Amino acid sequence: MNLQSIDPLLLLFLLIPVAAAAWSGWLLGRRTSARRSGARVTELSSHYFRGLNYLLNEQPDKAIEVFMKLAEFNRDTVETHLALGNLFRRRGEVDRAIRVHQHLVSRPNLSEAERTVALLELGEDYMRAGLLDRAEALFDDLVAMDAHAPSALRHLIAIYQHERDWHKAIGHARRLEKMTGDSQAATIAQFQCELAEQARQHGARAEARGYLDEAFTSHPGCVRGYLISGHLYAEEENWHAAVLSFEKAVDADIDFVPEILPPLLDAYAHAGQMERAEKFLGHVVERYHGITPVLALTKLYRQREGERAAVAFLTEQLRQRPSVRGMMALIDATLDRTEGEAHENFVILRDLTRKLLEGRAMYRCNHCGFGAKAHHWQCPSCKGWGTVRPIHSVVSE
Ligand SMILES: [Zn+2]
Repeated sequence: MNLQSIDPLLLLFLLIPVAAAAWSGWLLGRRTSARRSGARVTELSSHYFRGLNYLLNEQPDKAIEVFMKLAEFNRDTVETHLALGNLFRRRGEVDRAIRVHQHLVSRPNLSEAERTVALLELGEDYMRAGLLDRAEALFDDLVAMDAHAPSALRHLIAIYQHERDWHKAIGHARRLEKMTGDSQAATIAQFQCELAEQARQHGARAEARGYLDEAFTSHPGCVRGYLISGHLYAEEENWHAAVLSFEKAVDADIDFVPEILPPLLDAYAHAGQMERAEKFLGHVVERYHGITPVLALTKLYRQREGERAAVAFLTEQLRQRPSVRGMMALIDATLDRTEGEAHENFVILRDLTRKLLEGRAMYRCNHCGFGAKAHHWQCPSCKGWGTVRPIHSVVSE
């Protein structure tokens, strides 16, 4: 159970046993007329409902205050401590969360199930505090004990990604896949691509190819794999093979066209395959709704058929897919052919459109909504892989 991601309502359910105990204690207190204990339990249940109220009103600091009092009353209630530790961690008070969970783990009367839940929580506290070595040791123990192993494995994979230990990340992702039956193929392929990219940076192209083969074995439609493969061929000046790889990347996932087109166009030029380029871009324009392939094709038409044909094509496309970047290209194309006041106005227009685009997020994570100016294979916010994609809008792509 991942308590960090629990919403307040679910947390309330966790705390219901506390309320029930408080309520039955209150009834018992009334029946036996045991005044002192009755008063104590009434106080307890009023604390509890006040805590609920704060949680529902999203006032976690006040809720923490109340639940701390509850925890004092109910020294034996594991749920209260778990809820309290979870609240501390969510508030960023990791030291306090660690103390609560360490205290829980050290209790002699805890059941095995309760202890492992507390250990899992403690591991999350350590991760949050940046104590990755301690978190790793703890999650390793949980996996060895076969307690909450899938959660522990997911945390371990997150740690290895953070440390960029891709071999260990791959090994643990495979174990997770085996344990849960949920495919990790696309993620494993990304880890292989990280290794391939590392090898490429060091000039170890054969080693990089080995990792790419493994990436394609895990995930045959790995767009990033084709992209790296294209770069490897380009470095070897094998331009025909580079063209093929980059084209395969477009076919694998057309959303990555803004990343693939620049090196692909370069490879076409080196291979002297401009007719093939025009044909391929023609297909891409039909399948991809952003402006990038239109601008590339406009440039090709300008080189082959002159300015007039290029502007005619761009204008026609802009009617179908209005775009600020496209408008800027049109202004640039028109600027040189104007004089005097009209020219000055075009210069102003160009500066204005440039300002419109400045600082805009061009990419967005389709998992968490994180906006970015540049592309990332791993979302910097939610750490999802391949989720950051171009935004298709008038002012973006
Ligand atoms: Zn994200």
